Amino acid sequence: MVDTTLMSIPGQVDPVPVARDITPREDGRVDLIGLPKKDITALFEGAGLDKRQAKLRAKQVFHWLYHRGVTDFEAMTDIAKTMRPWLAERFVIGRPDVVEAQHSTDGTRKWLLKTTDGHEFEMVFIPDADRGTLCVSSQVGCTLNCRFCHTGTMRLVRNLTPGEIVGQVMLARDSLGEWPKGRMDDLGDESEAEYTADGRLLTNIVMMGMGEPLYNFDNVRDALQLVMDGDGLALSKRRITLSTSGVVPAMARCGEEIGVNLAVSLHAVTKEIRDEIVPINKKYGLEELLQACADYPGASNARRITFEYVMLKDKNDSDEDAHELVRLLKKYKLPAKVNLIPFNPWPGAAYECSTPERIRHFSNIVFEGGISAPVRTPRGRDIDAACGQLKTAAEKKSRAQRDREAAEAEAQA
Ligand code: SAH
Ligand code: SF4
Repeated sequence: MVDTTLMSIPGQVDPVPVARDITPREDGRVDLIGLPKKDITALFEGAGLDKRQAKLRAKQVFHWLYHRGVTDFEAMTDIAKTMRPWLAERFVIGRPDVVEAQHSTDGTRKWLLKTTDGHEFEMVFIPDADRGTLCVSSQVGCTLNCRFCHTGTMRLVRNLTPGEIVGQVMLARDSLGEWPKGRMDDLGDESEAEYTADGRLLTNIVMMGMGEPLYNFDNVRDALQLVMDGDGLALSKRRITLSTSGVVPAMARCGEEIGVNLAVSLHAVTKEIRDEIVPINKKYGLEELLQACADYPGASNARRITFEYVMLKDKNDSDEDAHELVRLLKKYKLPAKVNLIPFNPWPGAAYECSTPERIRHFSNIVFEGGISAPVRTPRGRDIDAACGQLKTAAEKKSRAQRDREAAEAEAQA
């Protein structure tokens, strides 16, 4: 049975009851994706293996899952043939379901994914000349409602599990064909040459998809620890960036427990405007947020904090705003870079994007203040894959359309 017990997750304005974040499978098997090695070991022990065997098998299986990307126990060629069906009876190797995959004219790709209990969420891959960035979701929807963000208008919210978060990275590697090829069961002199893992497209991860990652901290941390594990996906923490709208109490833990790069969605420099466009500001104000940035473990001139600033016409884009931004970042002695994001429109949004001249001018003022402030090129706009445009297809349907579909389904039942 699917466990639909409700739990609440923190939200700025009103906490929203959401389905529990671990959904047991109906067939009783356990999905291994998302579990750390020690939990896999414990499961193997619980299923009857002795301590030594369990540890050894967990190590082998972990390597196949996260280093080689296999989705079938039969492919685990260094595990005894008789043991493979034993594993398959008890465990599965999951991936999020792909509902739709879209390809932008600029090379950006977007996937609409679905959890086993039917919640839809999105993931985006952005190829560049020197890197490829996967934009990963942490929640279905978002409980915060930043006024300029489409995701913030989704009603349905649920935390993604560690498996669903790391599962996005696995799925991207599947789709890009980026698992190391070759045999590893008998790494003799000849076969070693076949075993390659070089020249990958997916080099960076940003937690900038749907959701506020610091409102799902434990699951995001567990997932990123798997992404960073040297025996598995082995991505360096320097290639991972977590973006937060400013959940101040979780920021120190993020630095201490995962140590990834931090991006902060600042977007405004006065209380009045930030309260309006990033409502979490009413709870954790600007000064408190900037102090938490100054205290962020691991930040330095070599590893600067990124401040994201969406350019909204006549809202936050004046010369005074730019000067105030410089003053604030200097006051807190922040090792900072500013990312200016042209506002990406969506149907019904209350704002317009600043003009290109205004954005350039704003960028120059910040730059003259000694802080780098590049303008981010919007990517994947034609497939609604750009920042703040993520909102699942199901949610984009009108209420009338959903009601019609529900009535049809009922009539058919
Ligand atoms: N919830 C996190 C991470 C996801 S949003 C956060 O808010 O930081 C990733 C970035 O896109 C954030 O800086 C967000 O403010 C920005 N964004 C949201 N909507 C946007 C829009 N319509 N146009 C441009 N950027 C937007
Ligand atoms: Fe949530 Fe980030 Fe969108 Fe704000 S900008 S509503 S925090 S996803």
